[in-house]
Amino acid sequence: MSLSLKIYHKLPGWSRNLAASLRGHYLNSWRYDKNSQILVEQALERDFWGRKDWDRWVGNRLDKLLSRARTSVPYYREVWDERSDDLQSSDKLENWQILEKDSVRKEAENLVADDRNLKKMFCDHTSGTTGTALNIWASSDTVKHWYALNEARCRNWYGVTKNDRWAILGGQLVTPATQTKPPFWVWNSAMNQLYLSSYHLSLTSVKSYLDALCRYRVRYILGYPSAIYTLARSALALGRRDVTLHVAISNAEPLYDHQRETIAEAFDCAVRETYGMAEMAAAATECSEGNLHQWLDAGIIETDDNDEIICTGLVNPDMPLIRYRVGDRAKFAKTPCACGRSLPVIASIEGRSDDVLLTPDGRIVGRLDPVFKKDMPVIESQIIQKTLKTILVKYVPAPDFNSSAGRDLSNRIRERLGDVEVILEKVSQIPRTPRGKFRAVVCELSAEERTKARGF
Ligand SMILES: [Zn+2]
Repeated sequence: MSLSLKIYHKLPGWSRNLAASLRGHYLNSWRYDKNSQILVEQALERDFWGRKDWDRWVGNRLDKLLSRARTSVPYYREVWDERSDDLQSSDKLENWQILEKDSVRKEAENLVADDRNLKKMFCDHTSGTTGTALNIWASSDTVKHWYALNEARCRNWYGVTKNDRWAILGGQLVTPATQTKPPFWVWNSAMNQLYLSSYHLSLTSVKSYLDALCRYRVRYILGYPSAIYTLARSALALGRRDVTLHVAISNAEPLYDHQRETIAEAFDCAVRETYGMAEMAAAATECSEGNLHQWLDAGIIETDDNDEIICTGLVNPDMPLIRYRVGDRAKFAKTPCACGRSLPVIASIEGRSDDVLLTPDGRIVGRLDPVFKKDMPVIESQIIQKTLKTILVKYVPAPDFNSSAGRDLSNRIRERLGDVEVILEKVSQIPRTPRGKFRAVVCELSAEERTKARGF
């Protein structure tokens, strides 16, 4: 933990609000300026562009990006200089090697163009689900473009703006982990944002969270669906109908149908799924028709045989991530969306490629949410693949959980995974990742075992 975070944790509640607001002012100065509204309007106009306009726009950006990466970015310069097949031209995307996350972690500074000064750039320290820390650097222009896209395709699509009061349920340690009494949040007045700690959310603390949402009059919430779902489920169990929202926006984890239904019912609001990453290499948001649209101006997405996505970010030419293997899987839909936007539709984001289970006969099983339909008396659960034939299910039971529900649960898993042993383990809480994220599915098979089972 950093020294500044230690000092911050010792502050009384009101000073933490002040500290959060000062930080908010600082972030606002990076993210928005007088041109932001124009950038938002341009992005909204592009939503309805025809294919030709998009091809020209993306092609133009890509040409500039590849040329800049080849000449001004030390990492890529070295890769191309060492290549023996250098007869292949670097102006074609398919000739570029896949960039692995580990390279971004180790070579972060070498991935920044050498005509840029790191000290004058914004640095986002991020850690993914596996806790791997990454540093992503961006110029002021890039940050403003990225936040304009977010304002357009996230808030504007959902009928809210950055000036509305909102809540975020996320992984920042806004409250010391040891604190047992509210407030488990800070009010950031610069951003009109109530930052709620996802780490302190429990059956005993949830009432105070719901009270805070009312007291701060928040209009919408953004956060991990697992955490918003816990709030929603508790609101229903407590018979609280006083928290109504305009929209709940999920991020960072896949959104499951049972979560969506419960959140919509509890807060009487629309629920929208989003997909994005701190690396700014790709993003997608759900429209009013319920389809997830890829942002063509954020990045190019290729998919491999295993549906893994490979992204080339178009927003950050100063730290270009070209053919970057993000570690997520996705399937694209063939049909256009009834909303009229030309942005491609992603049929589903299957989550991280190491968060899929393998059956003994080599099938890949991604989403297992049908196992936990609303009728299953389970508050939360995690499915862990121990071996090819052993599945451990950790679950937090609802009061009406009984042995027949347990049998039902095991059967539903076997229906999908075949002849496997299912071990049920009752727990009081499912542990979160270091960033406070919830993982519904965890595969503990080694890379060798996975390759062997899949046959490739
Ligand atoms: Zn649509």
